[in-house]
Amino acid sequence: MKGRVVIVGGGVAGMQTALSLKALGIESLILEQSRQLGGKLTGWHLLFPTFTPAQDVVAPLIRAVRQSGIQTRFGCKVVSVDSRRVILDSGERIDAAAVVLCSGSTLFNAKIKEEYGYGIYDNVFTSADIEQMMNNGKVAMADGRTPERIAILHCVGSRDEKVCQRHCSKVCCITAVKQAIELKKLFPDADVFNFYMDMRMFGPGYEELYRRAQIEHNIHFVRGRISEASPLMDSRVQIKAEDTLTGRPLRMSVDMLVLMVGMRANDDNAFISSSSGAELAENGFFKPRNSFMDNVLSTKEGIFLVGTISSPKTVGQTLNEASAAAIRIAEYLRYGN
Ligand code: SF4
Repeated sequence: MKGRVVIVGGGVAGMQTALSLKALGIESLILEQSRQLGGKLTGWHLLFPTFTPAQDVVAPLIRAVRQSGIQTRFGCKVVSVDSRRVILDSGERIDAAAVVLCSGSTLFNAKIKEEYGYGIYDNVFTSADIEQMMNNGKVAMADGRTPERIAILHCVGSRDEKVCQRHCSKVCCITAVKQAIELKKLFPDADVFNFYMDMRMFGPGYEELYRRAQIEHNIHFVRGRISEASPLMDSRVQIKAEDTLTGRPLRMSVDMLVLMVGMRANDDNAFISSSSGAELAENGFFKPRNSFMDNVLSTKEGIFLVGTISSPKTVGQTLNEASAAAIRIAEYLRYGN
């Protein structure tokens, strides 16, 4: 075996893959673009559907990586990959026994949907902003006032032909339910409305949480998509929508509009794909060799996929996939493809 297994990305996918490999006696090197381990989850507050603090997942993983002596390098921008080496933007070449792509996905930029006014109107936020505000211990309108009416809009940058993101991001319906409950707990007198196309409650405990949101927390769910938002003189936001269950148009003033941004494929995927030969799916995520029997292997021998690099996934699914990938990598190192 020449070199170690090289893991591109130091979020939960990369860390769990490295730890699972270590448990099998296989050394790895994590290359992380930023200056720290943890990835996007470090900015998240609570995880659905259990309201587990994200730090309860991230911190033990970081600690375990450090304690087990897994090698990590930071500030590494990968410009080229094949199954035997990774090339950094500095020109450095790193030999690899196998490569695992764990660089995740990108949150949709809500500014692209100009009709919702994100980045233009004061009280339009994204789901990621809400997590950050919760982490900072202060959720409020831009002028510090307490919101009395909040609208949460699903499918922003997902299931949307106009922005070339046709896929469902899978986790944002349940995130919307979770955030609605958190907001209602913070502001018990506020009315919280979720505007959805379909409620996709596929995971264990999701449907139950959705029911609790309605029955115990009195959160309102409206089937319909907000078509536009406009500012009011007092910095609130007026939204226009259609309730597609009753067929009635709807106009409402809200204190906060929260956009549930979806996951899209990283821009980097295109050049990693062209340098490695690992194919992308139509939506820009990496394509697994076989969705049933070999979904942690890319279409290129020796290049493996873990986490949202191949499709939107939950944290739990990503962690399981990392362990599965480690076993598959061990087989590959021992027996070849
Ligand atoms: S999970 Fe829900 S909010 Fe997210 S894209 Fe799918 S349907 Fe839309």
